[in-house]
Amino acid sequence: MDSVGPLGLQQGDGAPGCPQEALPCPSNSPELVQECLRQFKVTGAQLRQIQASLLGSMEQALSGQANPAPTVRMLPTYVGSVPHGTEQGDFVVLELGAIGASLRVLWVTLMGTKGHRMEPQSREFVIPQEVMVGPGQQLFDFAARCLSEFLDAFPVGNQGLQLGFSFSFPCHQTGLDKSTLISWTKGFRCSGVEGQDVVQLLRDAIQRQGAYSIDVVAVVNDAVGTMMGCEPGAGPCEVGLVVDTGTNACYMEEARHVAVLDEDRGRVCISVEWGSFSDDGALGPVLTTFDHALDHESLNPGAQRFEKMIGGLYLGELVRLVLAHLAQRGVLFGGCTSPALLSRGGILPEHVAEMEDPSAGAARVHTILQDLGLRPRASDTELVRHVCAAVCTRAAQLCAAALAAVLSRLQRSREQETLQIAVATGGRVFERHPRFLSILQETVMLLAPRCDVSFIPSVDGGGRGVAMVTAVAARLAAHRRLLEETLAPFRLTREQLAAVQAQMREAMARGLRGEASSLRMLPTYVRATPDGSERGDFLALDLGGTNFRVLLVRVATGGVQISSQIYSIPECVAQGSGQQGILLTWTKGFNASDCEGQDVVCLLREAIRRRQATELNVVAIVNDTVGTMMSCGYEDPRCEVGLIVGTGTNACYMEELRNVASVAGDSGHMCINMEWGAFGDDGSLGMLSTNFDASVDQASINPGKQRFEKMISGMYLGEIVRHVLLHLTSLGVLFRGQPTQRLQTRDIFKTKFLSEIESDSLALRQVRAILEALGLPLTSDDALMVLEVCQAVSQRAAQLCGAGVAAVVEKIRENRGLEELTVSVGVDGTLYKMHPHFSSLVAATVQELAPRCAVTFLQSEDGSGKGAALVTAVACRLAQMTHV
Ligand code: ADP
Repeated sequence: MDSVGPLGLQQGDGAPGCPQEALPCPSNSPELVQECLRQFKVTGAQLRQIQASLLGSMEQALSGQANPAPTVRMLPTYVGSVPHGTEQGDFVVLELGAIGASLRVLWVTLMGTKGHRMEPQSREFVIPQEVMVGPGQQLFDFAARCLSEFLDAFPVGNQGLQLGFSFSFPCHQTGLDKSTLISWTKGFRCSGVEGQDVVQLLRDAIQRQGAYSIDVVAVVNDAVGTMMGCEPGAGPCEVGLVVDTGTNACYMEEARHVAVLDEDRGRVCISVEWGSFSDDGALGPVLTTFDHALDHESLNPGAQRFEKMIGGLYLGELVRLVLAHLAQRGVLFGGCTSPALLSRGGILPEHVAEMEDPSAGAARVHTILQDLGLRPRASDTELVRHVCAAVCTRAAQLCAAALAAVLSRLQRSREQETLQIAVATGGRVFERHPRFLSILQETVMLLAPRCDVSFIPSVDGGGRGVAMVTAVAARLAAHRRLLEETLAPFRLTREQLAAVQAQMREAMARGLRGEASSLRMLPTYVRATPDGSERGDFLALDLGGTNFRVLLVRVATGGVQISSQIYSIPECVAQGSGQQGILLTWTKGFNASDCEGQDVVCLLREAIRRRQATELNVVAIVNDTVGTMMSCGYEDPRCEVGLIVGTGTNACYMEELRNVASVAGDSGHMCINMEWGAFGDDGSLGMLSTNFDASVDQASINPGKQRFEKMISGMYLGEIVRHVLLHLTSLGVLFRGQPTQRLQTRDIFKTKFLSEIESDSLALRQVRAILEALGLPLTSDDALMVLEVCQAVSQRAAQLCGAGVAAVVEKIRENRGLEELTVSVGVDGTLYKMHPHFSSLVAATVQELAPRCAVTFLQSEDGSGKGAALVTAVACRLAQMTHV
């Protein structure tokens, strides 16, 4: 072993003791002492530089920039929300790495909002040195043994226990219960653990131990535990700061700023891991010869340089190195040293705390030094105190600079000029050094003047916080199971969708043959889709809900031009009778294509003749589905299907005339209006119908009718979601189980909210805003569940719609005896067009269920008016052809 350390100190088994003749204090002693103490002085400018450099490093790590490697890690912890306060139950907490060479087991009972706080019961086990640096399995087996020894004192029986694992080392977390150790710190160095999932190692050890049934629910570090266990004051506590053996902090960051998460919703707790911060530019000028010596002698030279200036494990060491230096120069202890003074770990952090404490008398300092085998003189005690104070002051100031960097980061991420924030503090350095917190506070005020920071001491050393995280995780897991159970009936399998397709095919065939079927398969007398040769001016009339539009449609070589005039329908006309019937029947009359339709045309002809305005020839009436198909057909001759997904849903397609029993003729085609909204009204969709569908149906104006439409279209999706939300509230999964009056209101949840909520560009915060505007105040967890409900409901709608389209295109393909069919579908309807995922889900389902059809979806523009004109144009073209 080297007998001379990097500072020229004699070490270990060197030759401690006194010089042959006790040297008198050299004359330069005050200067030597001043020299040492000066090294530990940090200027305001240096602190600011550390703050700025750390902030830069934090932001670099958040943005995922790898070059140059950021010096802090900024590890996401998968803790997404601070506690509700409603958490309750019994939890076991195992702490490793939070308190030096000890392991702590706690039994924590959370009482929810009502109960008073119960003191946790805990026990500390000292980890033998050989276990701290031995094989990893030995450490985890030791932990499992401590656990069961602790639990033996509780009446646990066969009861399953939920455990929160507080593991305070730098880890890559990939889930709340999955965490890979990056590197040991704080004097631990067990083999075979780095790169492994420590939760799994603990689970395995518990299993090997075999005494208790323990579920490891969550893993967190002490900083997160400190933050989460904080008694909520005026506002939530969103920063955790720990100075114990080592030092670290965590805070709540906006998830969208964390590049590795690829998540734009909510917040996530980030473990800064500032112990590893080491920027040569900022930290270099502050590092003393003693820091270098300490690093050199440590288990992890070159690593955790910042932590080695702040953490409690190192404060004792720094003081020891300074005192040994001064003793060897003859400035202290009459030039005498002792084995304790010359060996690593000889001065403990608690010694430093006691000697530094202004309230401790000189006699106490004297005793401590004597216990260390030294022979202090009266003047020595004061000098030793100065050394302790200098080392601790620097630690508190550096810690403040780092905390100020976190606060600046919060200000930026929240886009707030001023910040009001609570910081939970934990660790024995806070407990032992009363001056530490006051220096920290003072310095933070200087470095972050725009932050109003309150410091709140942690409860139960963070154990309560770990239990809290575990409770939240356990609650979320239970809620997730209930959510999954609730949504399961909406998640249709491929087989179920194929069955819908097959049933649809059946019903189509029966309807065409004129047999009993929920699909009426109405002939529309439209015999062809546009071929592009149509020319002429056509007038179309379109009756909407409140408006009546007259369109002049010019079909020319250059394409289709539409000029339209909108007339609002006078109340007296809307409420009256007589000619008014003409208009109503004209747009809604597609249900009765044959005689009733003829009547409408006659009436319209007569009405026009009465006006004697122009020479007009009324050729056709069209429904919106047909209009959509025809208007898209003008652009794409392969468009032979029309689809509407708006308030309601319907489809039409070109069928072989020979298959249409109700119309004479064996050759040619005819567009069939399927009226598919009624599909399933014979009960055939019963297997898919959920309780929520039944509730929506029961409350509708036409119970038992339009069953397919009620699972798909805009009029109903919002209502289905509302019923699911009511159910989840009754299970306690949403709104903390408190039923809200608003949610009981019919139609309060509009289908357009599904589009807004499911929009990819929205952060969960905005989802909350949408729901809050509705009078539904939610937590982030609630908002995420509402999103999932919306997704399940709209996905089922789109998939059912896709199964229907698949049935249609497959029928066309088979009708024509084709191996492969290329076909287009003209689509209209606000739900289809505005929902962010509906159209792609429909397309994906069709591709899955009708793989031999290449289907293109075309969105129609102004389908009804243009379509009506085109129906007319095609009819004219066909008529001319017959003439010729
Ligand atoms: P209609 O089908 O009555 O002719 P639309 O095609 O415009 O008319 O459909 C209107 C329906 O679309 C509304 O009843 C509503 O349920 C739904 N809707 C409106 N806005 C949106 C939106 N942004 N996203 C999804 N659905 C919407």
